[in-house]
Amino acid sequence: MLTHTQIDSFKKILEEEKKLLETELSELGSQNPSNMSDWVPSKPSGEEFGADMNQNADIIEDMQDNSGALNELEERLRNVVQALERIQEGTYGVCEVSDEPIEMDRLNANPAASTCTKHMQ
Ligand SMILES: [Zn+2]
Repeated sequence: MLTHTQIDSFKKILEEEKKLLETELSELGSQNPSNMSDWVPSKPSGEEFGADMNQNADIIEDMQDNSGALNELEERLRNVVQALERIQEGTYGVCEVSDEPIEMDRLNANPAASTCTKHMQ
């Protein structure tokens, strides 16, 4: 079992990670107003669609690049938020699959881990 001190220190790490991910996300995109956990790529700053088709294509390409990065960040943020919820619920550090305690090494490597080493995908 994790002690309160250990849980508190993971909580701090996760909260920092959450802030960092939200900052990175807001640099690449904006939150979808109808689904706050979904982020949509924003146009590169200073770039506007215009009459130049090549430039328009460049802007769209940039947005597509951002879209891939956004999905990855979204996924990481989702994991971090879920880990913080498990701390709230008192189920943090317990494997979702086997209900066994998650190894300390694994939590140190990834504080957002939701399964033990045996059950990680
Ligand atoms: Zn397990």
